[in-house]
Amino acid sequence: MAGSPTTRVLSGLSKARPWQEDFYRHLHQHPELSHQEHHTAAEVAGRLGRFGYRVHTGIGGTGVVAVLHNGDGPTVLMRADMDALPVRERSGLPYASTVTARDRDGLEVPVMHACGHDVHVTCLLGACALLADAQQEWRGTVVALFQPAEELGDGARKMVDDRLATVAKHVDVAFAQHVLAMPAGLVGTRPGPTLSAADSLRITVHGRGAHGSMPQAAVDPVVLAAMIVVRLQTVIAREVAPTDPAVLTVGSIQAGTAGNVIADHAVLQLNVRTYDDRTREAILDAVTRIVIAECQASRSPRDPEIELFDRFPPTRNDPATTARVRGAFDTLFGDRSGDLPLQTASEDFSHLTDALSAPYTYWGIGGIDPETYRRAAEAGRISEDLPVNHSPAFAPVIQPTLDTGTQAMVAAALAWLT
Ligand code: ZN
Ligand code: ZN
Repeated sequence: MAGSPTTRVLSGLSKARPWQEDFYRHLHQHPELSHQEHHTAAEVAGRLGRFGYRVHTGIGGTGVVAVLHNGDGPTVLMRADMDALPVRERSGLPYASTVTARDRDGLEVPVMHACGHDVHVTCLLGACALLADAQQEWRGTVVALFQPAEELGDGARKMVDDRLATVAKHVDVAFAQHVLAMPAGLVGTRPGPTLSAADSLRITVHGRGAHGSMPQAAVDPVVLAAMIVVRLQTVIAREVAPTDPAVLTVGSIQAGTAGNVIADHAVLQLNVRTYDDRTREAILDAVTRIVIAECQASRSPRDPEIELFDRFPPTRNDPATTARVRGAFDTLFGDRSGDLPLQTASEDFSHLTDALSAPYTYWGIGGIDPETYRRAAEAGRISEDLPVNHSPAFAPVIQPTLDTGTQAMVAAALAWLT
């Protein structure tokens, strides 16, 4: 057969596409919350076994790692995340989810693949099938990693802490991708910082409760919390360089029960996004400094409690790896290969690559119908009309999204394996 190894491997897509589309609709209709991806993992593991991969299951809970040795050559790791979100689907799709499940706190919640991880799983599975079917075209080792609980930021860490390094040895390069609210058919790459680090903080400040008519007897935690919120606005504005992107959001304040009662404590929840390690530390230090100082200024009777949770590492694409993948994408996709803008979202993929000491690149693929996107862009209504990840209406079009994500994984892998 004529053409490059990549086009010859990808010629198997016409055979994979029908089962991939069925599998995608099945996954979309059967989403599972973080750390509960039992059905997804079993479906994935079963198929990988039939493709001829050596399959390791139950890594870090529900994680799956499948390995295909095909002679001497580099080892390429490709990763997909499997979990869904506690969101009630309002996409209007015929294969929309109506699933509910118990969350971490035992509450019954609706579940939806609102972040598109079902796309990632289906594309990676397709890439695994194509590579297994065309082993005469490449040499080396393929490691396919299906990760739990990306949304909680601890799924990758749990796989590392389990036995990841014993099943994925000497990884030369690692890839991951995410479906985003860009036109389907597009792939976007970016060298250097790509996704932010994220830190959530829960801060409890203490006052002294009293009757609402007797402020002299109270230390009012509502006023204290309000001062903290205002003062925190100065951290990004006055302490971080304007060229260094960062976000600090106070997303929640809770205090008090009635208008005529001064409460005895207030709880604030914050989210911080950064791209630079030093900026990250400086902002977290500034938050601590301001909270302590405002508590003192308000005569708070007890030290505040500051708790960090849901922490995500930064995603910084290796420039050389990214350039090589970009070259493969430019060849395969032509003008559908472009630049990915800096993303404020976060990922725990780099926990895997750091643990394996593997250079990596993480790219974006489009999921919005190109014609719908074009109309929204023409009307200047992209943010209003196009549902983004985590929205109840997020609904990637099946094609060309699945084809593009499958082709991207294969093309990137073959840039090392041929
Ligand atoms: Zn997400
Ligand atoms: Zn996601």
